[in-house]
Order: sequence, then C-alpha cells, then structure tokens
Amino acid sequence: SAPRLLLQAEGLKLHFGGIIAADGINLSLYDGEHLAIIGPNGAGKTTFLNICTGYLRPQGGYVRFENREITAHPPRDITRLGIARAFQIPQLFAEQTVLENMLLAASVRERHWNPLRNLHAIPERREMEELLELVGCSDVRDRVASELPEGKRKLADIAIALALKPRVLLMDEPTSGVASADKFDVMETLMNALRKAKVSSVFVEHDMEMVSRYATRVAVWAQGKIQTTGKPDVVLNDPEVIRNVIGG
Ligand code: ATP
Repeated sequence: SAPRLLLQAEGLKLHFGGIIAADGINLSLYDGEHLAIIGPNGAGKTTFLNICTGYLRPQGGYVRFENREITAHPPRDITRLGIARAFQIPQLFAEQTVLENMLLAASVRERHWNPLRNLHAIPERREMEELLELVGCSDVRDRVASELPEGKRKLADIAIALALKPRVLLMDEPTSGVASADKFDVMETLMNALRKAKVSSVFVEHDMEMVSRYATRVAVWAQGKIQTTGKPDVVLNDPEVIRNVIGG
C-alpha cells in the first residue's frame, strides 16, 4: 500500500518587508520519512518550520496535516494533532526536571488542560519511563532539564517531544551545540528512537555527512524556494547543489 501522506505544504508565501522567506513552498512528508532540509543561511528553512507549527501565518498557501487544514492554527492545537517541535526547552519549563517536562507535555494532549493538576498522578508515567529508556536518558530523569550537558539535553528534549505522542517531529539542527566527538552518537540514538516510536521527521541540517547518513530524502532550500528534492545520494552529488549549498 502507498505510504500515508502526513504533512503537506502548498504554495506557502511569506515576505518580511522586502525579504522573501517563503516564495511558493510545496512539500509533502510521507509516513516513515526522515526529510532533511538543507540550504544557505537566510534561505527560509526555519521560517518553514515556524509556519508548519502555527508560529507564523503565511501570506499565501496552506499547510495540511493528515488531510486537515492547519494553516495558522494555534500552535497548541497543532501539537495536539500530532506535530511536535524539538529543542525548545528554554521556552518550556527550564526549572523543571526532565520527567516533569515530559509529564507536562503529556498533559498538554488532554482535552481539558489544567496546568495546576498533580503531574505525578498522570497515568502515562510508565510510558514516560519507556521513552526515557529509548533515548538513553533514564539516568537524568530527575535532573533539571536546562542544566544537562548539551548532548543529554538534546536527547532529553527528544523524550519531552515524544511525550506529546507526535506523528511528525520537526527539528532545527538536531545536534547543534553538541561536541563534534559526540554528534553522531547523539544523532544515532535520536534517529533510532524516532524509528522505534514510528515518528517521521523533518530536520534542518548543515552537516552533509549527517544528511547522507540519516535522511531518507533531502529538500534543498534557496531564497524561499525549494530548488530540488530527492534521495541524499542523488541530491548531494548534484553539481548545482554542491555549488550553491555545500560550497566549493
Ligand atoms: P539559518 O540557516 O541562518 O537559520 P534559515 O534558512 O533558517 O537561515 P530563516 O531564519 O527562515 O532562514 O530566515 C529567512 C529570511 O527571513 C532571513 O533573511 C531572515 O532574516 C528573515 N526573517 C526571518 N524571520 C523574520 C522576522 N520575524 N522578521 C523579519 N525578517 C525575518
């Protein structure tokens, strides 16, 4: 059977004054894909993630998730439908422990969200322990999320994002800030966790080795447009991509 269409952007347009951040973006993400977004600084990669999560309203076009229009819906509604964004601990609850952040994330899914309820009474606690195991973070369960070493923090943040039970996870440079000696270990753990949890992903990435190892497909951004998309071994060997993005 054909893979299921999860996320679909069509004709997205967004200008900031004279700056063109999105100039007709068309992109589909299918179940099981791990799509890397590459492209030079200022090409509009982050803008695309912000539109998909409801943080920016496009001036044209739409975003659909599982055949439902979600363009400019409130971010919390989009999260509940199944699109999570990773690496936002600073905007979450920096003073809370990893487990508390996960329980808060799990509680956001509830229909009647009550921030004052007793987190530790939430029934999903066992599931949270399993997610921590999946990303190798059981040992930092009770540590304050914002105070972890960078590699652990990235993985803890993935556990927090997975606590939202997403179908799709959006990530802006998954291993940025991680010491180069640890980058591939962190990414390996992260991607294994996503595969086991059956979560598809879109990730912005500047490291082409990372792209060729972990992306099932690549989309190349250039000045608010998608220049090309395809399998990593094809796209990363395309002379025009090498010239414009990979640099030479
Ligand atoms: P980088 O790799 O540097 O993160 P990017 O591809 O993610 O770049 P965006 O952050 O999406 O690019 O930015 C695209 C363009 O839009 C840039 O020129 C940026 O300065 C501009 N831009 C983004 N957000 C805003 C905003 N809120 N107000 C004005 N200009 C913005």
